[in-house]
Amino acid sequence: MERSTIVRVHEGLHARPATRFVKLAKAFESDVELVKDGKAVSAKSSVKLMLLAVKENQEVTVRANGADAIEAIEALIGYLENPRAGLDDEGDAGEGGPQAAAPAPEATPVAAAPTDGTPKLQGVAASEGVAIGPAFAHFPPEIEGPGRRLQADEIEGELQRFRGAVASVQARMDRTLAENNLSAGDRGIVAALRDIAADDSLTGEVERLIRGGDDAVSAVIGAAATIAADFSAVDDHYLNARADDVHAVGRQICLVLLGQDEVSLETIPQGAILIADDIGAWDLARAPLKRIGGVICGHGGATSHIAIIARSHGIPAVLGLGDKVNELRTAKEVAIDGNAGHVIVDPDEAARADFTRRVEAAAQERAGLKVFKGVTPKRADGTVIEVAANIGSLEEIEAAQEAGAMGVGLFRTELLFMRHMHLPSEDMQAETYSALAKAFAPHSVIVRTLDIGGDKPIAGIEFPDEENPFLGWRGIRMCLDRPDIFKKQLRALLRAAIHGNIKVMLPMVSEIAEVTRTRALVDECASELKAEGVPHASFDLGVMIETPAAVLIAPALAKEVAFFSIGTNDLTQYIMAADRLNPTVAKLNDVTNPAVMSAIELTAKAGVAAGIMVGMCGEAAGRPDLIPAFVGMGLTELSMSPASIQRAKKTIAAMVAER
Ligand code: PEP
Ligand code: MG
Repeated sequence: MERSTIVRVHEGLHARPATRFVKLAKAFESDVELVKDGKAVSAKSSVKLMLLAVKENQEVTVRANGADAIEAIEALIGYLENPRAGLDDEGDAGEGGPQAAAPAPEATPVAAAPTDGTPKLQGVAASEGVAIGPAFAHFPPEIEGPGRRLQADEIEGELQRFRGAVASVQARMDRTLAENNLSAGDRGIVAALRDIAADDSLTGEVERLIRGGDDAVSAVIGAAATIAADFSAVDDHYLNARADDVHAVGRQICLVLLGQDEVSLETIPQGAILIADDIGAWDLARAPLKRIGGVICGHGGATSHIAIIARSHGIPAVLGLGDKVNELRTAKEVAIDGNAGHVIVDPDEAARADFTRRVEAAAQERAGLKVFKGVTPKRADGTVIEVAANIGSLEEIEAAQEAGAMGVGLFRTELLFMRHMHLPSEDMQAETYSALAKAFAPHSVIVRTLDIGGDKPIAGIEFPDEENPFLGWRGIRMCLDRPDIFKKQLRALLRAAIHGNIKVMLPMVSEIAEVTRTRALVDECASELKAEGVPHASFDLGVMIETPAAVLIAPALAKEVAFFSIGTNDLTQYIMAADRLNPTVAKLNDVTNPAVMSAIELTAKAGVAAGIMVGMCGEAAGRPDLIPAFVGMGLTELSMSPASIQRAKKTIAAMVAER
């Protein structure tokens, strides 16, 4: 008996939704399989399901055979058709689940360290911040299987030994989960590892090898290597990162079988930089994280579990160094720059002095700024200056709230599109925007429509080769040419607008027609939603001012929109004709150049004269040396990365106090 359907589960059967699906399948006696593109796998193995790489909107068939086949098919089809399936049950599917595979945080520009004489190793910038400290090299010995062939009468005993080891690893993980000092994110990660340890594909493959005569340790190493290789081969970054998890679980089982303890991280000294070829997420989650100054790893990338743990604990991390990590085995001291992805081994005096200064300055400043978290900064005339956050994913909400953000001034939606191998659905987008709106209510959340171009291609959109991508088919230009993509986003925004605090802004606007054409599309989407009976509401529409053309037509533009938000990153490069990515023209790419400052002033004047809100969401909005000038020009909203918020509030408060 079988039935087909289109998968609506948000982002498909990634780790947590897959394990929940398996749990449901296991509740039925029948044999159940899931079939995609002619390939059938057992629905009772989460590893096999994950490897089937079932994506949202793909067609699959549920096949069941047994006494309760009808009930099984009904329940499993219902699960597959539920967009939120597996996302909000059991409390342990926290940030560590697949949805938390946040990209590396936006690298905030930091002053380049004067370390030119000292060799730097380059890895993946996986968690921002700088640190310098004693090296703590953690290279636990490789476990090798004895490669012993079992006698026929030893096999049953070896199977029992293996099952006992799995049970003990699971029990240890359960104990860790029961501790209440784990964060929601770490809890989700440990729960995902526990699922792998319990999965039939791992245990089944190990038992098959033992029955074939392999000793248990060799069988675990072999089975874990096969499954990890399968994860590495899937065309999906999130699933690739699960290969490390499989190895970590295999290692834990082997250690129990060998009666050994993992080399402990308990002795890591205060402020030390942890260096490892490959550290298990479970080991890191249990480590004394408060003492760890930084993490450096040969394996891993921005979406691996260790990156997520490091980011959520504010620990700078550089991952993916590959074999270069071996150069750190004998290091005494290490400096790490998690913004740039640099590692300096045994820094010289100059580098040490520079890092020490940067670390101390950052710590002192952080401590002194905390009191500004809850401050509502006002101009001398009592007008509130909204100090909001620039974010690009839901995982950053907590950091923004912790910093005291008064809403979101720029939600960069590109990451939603870049994180996936397919375009995000309208439902998924509506849920994301709604979650943001709810998190920051009653403050505004300004969502920027897709700002992507030939320099940052994404799956699902064909970009032409362009000589000058920054002057090409990007932002609003691309969106208006692709109403199939743009309308989905506008419909999702109209749906999320029912929460009352969503505003929408258009990037790269250079003529009024771009606004009027967008408005026509918004009206079309609203009529469609009305006809379909889908709840929705209108939103304020604004524009980013980031092209010279927009500055020059600002008085006319101001009559068409509800607000301006000045994008100084692009505005500077276009006013100065100096590529923002090209270090050789970095000197010209300077927001304080009088040409750029007068473009900002012209914009502010036009907006203030028309009585609309003028804000800023480029990097310059967080600069204490420029904030007084911007506030003086009439800007009433400044949006920046969460790390700059308290400093900006302090700067505005000081302006009033000084008068
Ligand atoms: C800007 O250009 O100032 C801006 C905020 O947008 P982005 O950096 O995403 O181009
Ligand atoms: Mg821009």
